[in-house]
Amino acid sequence: MQHFDLEFVPEIIADATAPNVATHDLIWTDDGLVLTQDGELPSKAALDLMASQLKDYGTPWVGVGRYHHKKNAKQNFLVRSMWCSDSNIWTEQGFELVPLRTLLHRQSTEEFSVMSRACQLAEWVRSHRFCGRCGRATSFMSGERGLQCQECHFIEYPRISPAMMVLVKKENQILLARHVRSKDGYYTALAGFLEAGENIEDAIIREVYEEVGLTVANPRYFGSQAWPFPHSLMISFTADYVEGDIKLDTNEIADAIWFGANDARPLLPPNVSIARRLIDTHWPSA
Ligand SMILES: [Zn+2]
Repeated sequence: MQHFDLEFVPEIIADATAPNVATHDLIWTDDGLVLTQDGELPSKAALDLMASQLKDYGTPWVGVGRYHHKKNAKQNFLVRSMWCSDSNIWTEQGFELVPLRTLLHRQSTEEFSVMSRACQLAEWVRSHRFCGRCGRATSFMSGERGLQCQECHFIEYPRISPAMMVLVKKENQILLARHVRSKDGYYTALAGFLEAGENIEDAIIREVYEEVGLTVANPRYFGSQAWPFPHSLMISFTADYVEGDIKLDTNEIADAIWFGANDARPLLPPNVSIARRLIDTHWPSA
């Protein structure tokens, strides 16, 4: 797979139409990122050929950001991203479509963050082509990353949905749960979306009680990570067990177990996830 070896240059608006700038182009479909059979991004020539065959094969390009090669700072790259509504046109031409979740297991944290940003922005553009208020077409604003309605001037910014994650600690044990919807069947910290009007601390206490019936206190911030499924920000904490016995919300949680220093590690989330860092950092020591 493409290894970027790129460093993000903090420049919020990258001009997706700037001429004579080298670009890495990422095209997303419902079935994943368009890659060649060798796992590389398609060449310019291949994309030009596709574009000439199909007048309109997706949403407009959105600039993801400017990056430079770590080893050669003069080499600037623009990463652009777009969403294509038709998966078949790519597979018919021999391209592979690789889901973002698969890329999570293949890429470094850095590379995944480029893809995560790219996928979220493409998803944002395809979901806000029309105004949510009056239904007319939107277009890119200049100077800030927004899509504005040409009729009523309502602005849609990329949506970010905060979610909290909490690793509950009890003496020298941590609580890990297997989610009903987990395809991989791994054990991880509890997590959930914030409700409107709720702060993170309240969400932690509510979610732990709802999902496993325990009361917790003293949430301590650990770290955060953009989580592009489809547009979350995962904000992670540890918290102390106060009282209660495990009682599963079986709609959400298939199993929840206290793990101590002498227990074998279960299947854990991928290395690049903040869940894994949270668990590794707090795994009970003997
Ligand atoms: Zn409008």
